[in-house]
Amino acid sequence: MPKLISRNPANAEIIREFETTPLEDLPKIFDRARTAQMTWRAQTTQVRAEYLIQLRETILNHADEIIYLIAQENGKPRYEAIANEMIPTLDLLTYYSKRSPKLLRDRPIPLTLMKHRKSYLNYWPIGIVAIISPWNYPFFFPFSQIIAAIVTGNAILFKPSELTPCIGLKIQELCNEAGLPPNVLQTLLGDGAVGAAIIKQKPGKIFFTGSVSTGKKIMAASAQHLIPLNLELGGKDAMIVLPDASLDYATSAALWGAFSNSGQVCASTERIFVHERIMGPFLTQLKEKIEILRQGPSSRPENDLGSITSENQKTIYSRQINEAKAKGAEFITGGEFSSNKRFLKPTIITCQQMEELEIYNEETFGPVVTVSSYQSYSEAIEKTNQSKYGLNASIITNNISLGEKIAKQLEVGTVTINEVVYTAGLAETPWGGVKESGFGKTHSEIGLYEFVNIRHIHKPRSRIFIFKSPWWFPYTHFQYISFRQFLEFYRENWINKIRAIPDFLWNFIKFIKEEKRL
Ligand code: NAD
Repeated sequence: MPKLISRNPANAEIIREFETTPLEDLPKIFDRARTAQMTWRAQTTQVRAEYLIQLRETILNHADEIIYLIAQENGKPRYEAIANEMIPTLDLLTYYSKRSPKLLRDRPIPLTLMKHRKSYLNYWPIGIVAIISPWNYPFFFPFSQIIAAIVTGNAILFKPSELTPCIGLKIQELCNEAGLPPNVLQTLLGDGAVGAAIIKQKPGKIFFTGSVSTGKKIMAASAQHLIPLNLELGGKDAMIVLPDASLDYATSAALWGAFSNSGQVCASTERIFVHERIMGPFLTQLKEKIEILRQGPSSRPENDLGSITSENQKTIYSRQINEAKAKGAEFITGGEFSSNKRFLKPTIITCQQMEELEIYNEETFGPVVTVSSYQSYSEAIEKTNQSKYGLNASIITNNISLGEKIAKQLEVGTVTINEVVYTAGLAETPWGGVKESGFGKTHSEIGLYEFVNIRHIHKPRSRIFIFKSPWWFPYTHFQYISFRQFLEFYRENWINKIRAIPDFLWNFIKFIKEEKRL
């Protein structure tokens, strides 16, 4: 059986070794999930919401150990493990534990025409959902989807990234300790082969977070069985700095937007567009601020930037940087790896022919940002929208209403004004992109409904309204005439509507009498 080795990316030390999940076990795993889900779905939403409170308490009881593990296996600073992984998870648990019972209640739909009937939406769990996750936010991203799946009554097959299996198993342990019934959540270890094998077993829905290239493979595989998908993919997010922005504010926002989690963020600021009037001072100040950032292993809590988590990313960084150098791009700072190749220095690039560079067009997913100038707002909007991705964008300005006008022209899932990146961690707001950044939402009310099927139930208002509908067979002359008159009620002009009433009533009564429909 292939081994999975978890290593500390800052020094390559082995943390733990695992057996990967045998592919031949998958049918058994699915059977267990199916049985567990039957019992879990029978619980009320209130009971499942109370479980979330228990889970929140369990996480808090293990807080230090979780922070240490995230920093060790992913390489990010410990502070970021608290701020960007623990807090959003606890926040989402709080939000869904409070809101889910109300959100998942039957919801009436007011009917305009059919006053004698009632309609409502009834939410029911999908069944078995597959959650396939990346390594960059190995705690929060999968956990946020697991929480939504649990409270909606699903069983979950969770495959963490092969780079962060310890954190994946920690999520399983926490859920078990909090009292989740056996097999409601099962964690499967392995690489893409295990992910692909999960899809072959036809889960009810796939929640995939990862690269565009894997997203396309997953979509092709799920198309074989018409499995619905939620795809949270990569980005090449833009920041537009307007000429009125405070330089200090704009450069601090750019710094965090581009380099938090060492730029290994789907919503990382990878392209900055600065108004030409302030381009020079913006670059100078951004460079000065980069120079005081401390980069190093997560074991030192004062470091701002941790290590590169994935070996594969190093190949992408080298290729994009070498091409940019060869095409004459100017490296304002960075562009080099540390001597042990575990860190890439924070990098700023400008270039006359920016649009020809891979580093400008394709996701880098690292501590690299391109900076270009623009002359007009329409040019900044056009450059932002030229990307094939559409995850997130930010605007820095003192003119909030102008910022909003620009925001409404950007082809992305989220726009933040005078903020960057962080809304993926807000429980109340939806997260998800457009174009090649994927589709579907997570978090928020909208994200919760991704984990349920929606059943529309339509019934008579009461027993006295049980009669044969006038549009049923057999079709008759008076039925035709009265329905023809009925069309007149859609006219805009009230006089025309009123004029149609006598004819309609006369023919309709004849039709009803003739057919004894009431
Ligand atoms: P990846 O696509 O390489 O892997 C993601 C997961 O898919 C892993 O668990 C992997 O084992 C699995 N996988 C690989 N091949 C598979 C296959 N054929 N079938 C099923 N599963 C398969 O991505 P990564 O390198 O782990 O993560 C980085 C990417 O994730 C970046 O592009 C980043 O932008 C994106 N991301 C997006 C969001 C978002 O919310 N939009 C959040 C985090 C990360």
